[in-house]
Amino acid sequence: MNMADKENPAEIHELQRRLHDWFTAHQRPLPWRQTYDPYQVWIAEIMGQQTQMDRVVQYFLRWLARFPDLAAVAAAPEQAILKAWEGLGYYSRARNLHRAAQQLIASGESGIPADRQRLLALPGIGPYTAAAILSTAFNQPHPLLDANVERLFARLADIGRPLKQSATQKQLAAMAETLLDRDHPRIHNQALMELGALVCTPRNPDCPACPIQPFCQAHRVDTVEFRPVPTGKQKKIDIAMACGILRKGDAFYIQQRLPDDIWGNLWEFPGGRLEAKESPEQAARREIREETGWVLGELTAFTTVIHHYTRYRVTLHAFLARLPPTAPEPVLTAASHFAWASLERLGDYPFPAGHRQLVAALCAHFPEIR
Ligand code: SF4
Repeated sequence: MNMADKENPAEIHELQRRLHDWFTAHQRPLPWRQTYDPYQVWIAEIMGQQTQMDRVVQYFLRWLARFPDLAAVAAAPEQAILKAWEGLGYYSRARNLHRAAQQLIASGESGIPADRQRLLALPGIGPYTAAAILSTAFNQPHPLLDANVERLFARLADIGRPLKQSATQKQLAAMAETLLDRDHPRIHNQALMELGALVCTPRNPDCPACPIQPFCQAHRVDTVEFRPVPTGKQKKIDIAMACGILRKGDAFYIQQRLPDDIWGNLWEFPGGRLEAKESPEQAARREIREETGWVLGELTAFTTVIHHYTRYRVTLHAFLARLPPTAPEPVLTAASHFAWASLERLGDYPFPAGHRQLVAALCAHFPEIR
């Protein structure tokens, strides 16, 4: 299909009909599709950004049991929100969601507004999320482009340029607008995303099972495996970090990160990045001294965990140390609060991914003090 086809309403109508029928028969039974409740759609949309669908469903069901509606989110302490989000990453999504719920409740709303401008005024809701909520929850005719739809359109129109080029983005946006089924926007948009996720997959798309194959230009000219045109991949940046797991009796020291930094308000073991020519142990000692004022005696290497983020690969070296019962209170320079927690209680706090791996390693290492 190319953009000249917008002059062919009969062909577009047929494509829409095929998408509609395919979605009706093949859609996954995702929990928020039972009612399309706007609150549930909103949660699913925010969770779904950068996260695999099977994980979204797990987290969504747990979230709904804990926070059944907007008022429950608004009333919850931020720590409960972050704990429920723990493991999903990109914690600004959770903080924005919390702030958005509080703003809506404070302004007298009891639900998610069906209005683009009011949605865009909320934290964490940009043009894509607003369009997704409006079309999925309220069946309003807003075109949508997510990664699955972009890939599908690049094949449908056999676009020979990388997706991120501005000319390509304009073409994709025009296609989304032209092909939108204004009578059934909810089904149409979800059908495109679902088809991209299940059939027109990044590798080995199942073209024989594709309901819109007769309209697919890449299939016609045999370029499917070359579409979308790949962009040069960015290499991940390696970051080395070190931290100390400090024990006093059977309690472990943790501290809460400052609100405005990358994992704001999450908890962690004290530590930070290695400086030039520093060994992991030297970095752990220095960071702990800078962040708490404690000068440590013996340190024992405990474990090293590696965690991958979109652009970074973080290697975190962890060391164990004992503090005497007479150790003074820490002088916090990089944290807002601290706590001494038993192994059992550590699980109550929200941690970023690397430190959560350390908590699991501690539980395995010290079964006798759980
Ligand atoms: Fe994707 Fe194949 Fe369908 Fe074309 S025919 S849209 S490449 S699954």
